[in-house]
Amino acid sequence: MTTGPSYLKHLDYSVVQQCMHCGLCLPTCPTYEATKVEGHSPRGRIAMMRAIADERIEMTSTFAEEMYFCLGCLACMTACPADVNYAELFEHARAEAEASGVLRSGRRNLIRAFAIRWLFMDLRRMHRLGGVLRLYQRLGLQALLRRSGLLRLLPRRLRELEAMTPTICRQTSSDLIAPVTPASGGKKYRVAMLVGCAQDLIFSDVNRDTVEVLARNGCEVITPPHQQCCGSLHAHNGEIELARALAKKQIDQFPLDQFDAIISNAGGCGSHLKHYASLLAEEPSYRDRAAQWDSKLKDIHEWLAHTGIKTPKGKLTDQVVTYHESCHLAHGQKITSAPRQLLRTIPGLRLVELPESNWCCGSAGIYNLIQPEMANALLDRKLKHIATTGASIVATGNPGCLLQLVNGAREKGMPLEVVHPITLLAEAYRKEDRENTHDSKH
Ligand code: SF4
Ligand code: SF4
Repeated sequence: MTTGPSYLKHLDYSVVQQCMHCGLCLPTCPTYEATKVEGHSPRGRIAMMRAIADERIEMTSTFAEEMYFCLGCLACMTACPADVNYAELFEHARAEAEASGVLRSGRRNLIRAFAIRWLFMDLRRMHRLGGVLRLYQRLGLQALLRRSGLLRLLPRRLRELEAMTPTICRQTSSDLIAPVTPASGGKKYRVAMLVGCAQDLIFSDVNRDTVEVLARNGCEVITPPHQQCCGSLHAHNGEIELARALAKKQIDQFPLDQFDAIISNAGGCGSHLKHYASLLAEEPSYRDRAAQWDSKLKDIHEWLAHTGIKTPKGKLTDQVVTYHESCHLAHGQKITSAPRQLLRTIPGLRLVELPESNWCCGSAGIYNLIQPEMANALLDRKLKHIATTGASIVATGNPGCLLQLVNGAREKGMPLEVVHPITLLAEAYRKEDRENTHDSKH
């Protein structure tokens, strides 16, 4: 029984009724492919959403659970000939499920209140928690606990979650990146860099690499030290109002007229960050700035493809690299060739195509935490395909995918380096610098 606002009913009806039931999306949907159940397909889910919007059926826990069984991978959007906006439908359906309260339970409420409504709403809290975790890892307490065998006493699910704990970087982005990084070799552009939230704690080195690459390619880079979460976690988990609050904070932080572009290096965040205009469509004081924000928001691969990449002269050790596509980079942002083009410019690397490169790896935001069975099946499938390429490196442009593949490769004992494409490019530039320094000394 719906007790809160009806998000699906108030969604533009042209979005709700767009599906023409052709079924072309079905073979591309991982949950349908695994189950062959219509209700676990995009078409089945959209039919249920429309029935709720039309008030033909009531909100139930079965519907709400189905919305959380969907990965939100958006592969169905790539396949759809009718341009159905599944991303918007999916976000509104989850918001409707949350507003109705049909999934409420003490444990779930507590986790959501802590993580979504408290922790990710203020990155100072995340940094404090990250600091505690970093200390626990650096002092060797995590390794000690793992060696002690005490973890075997935990229930299986808790053991699995513990194994997924990410390693917190020694330094955050603001330790590694100056607020203003000058362009090297002549300034052509002025860009702002988004450091992300989890990315800032777990992959701050990728942020540093991104800024280095941008500077190398003619950009003066402004990286404000105190940034906030972009709100994609909130939008994808039924908290649209919180996502709006965070979008406004982001926009307020950047004087948009001063930048040629705002750069994101996280596929999942970028996909959300490019849609602030629709998120803030009902906010007159933000509407125009949100549209300007969307037009300036660029994924790093997309930006470099637009400006042109300076080919590095440094040659990396000869290796085979394969490329796993982040769902939200490929299906959400439709950026597929730019990362491949970037990898091909790096001397020493040979790009071998990954079968099913745009099939979800199971990370899908927090999907691997809440739907472990399906997430693990997708991870196994992905790792098997990676193994067939003979690659020693897998590159992917999203922190969730990076973590999922790192954990999966470690679990399976696969000798695989998992990196962001931009890290490989930054390494090649550094190699070039080292070789130049060496030559000038001799
Ligand atoms: S978002 Fe992914 S899992 Fe969900 S319906 Fe579309 S293809 Fe299927
Ligand atoms: S979502 Fe698109 S591809 Fe899927 S059934 Fe509807 S119209 Fe066809």
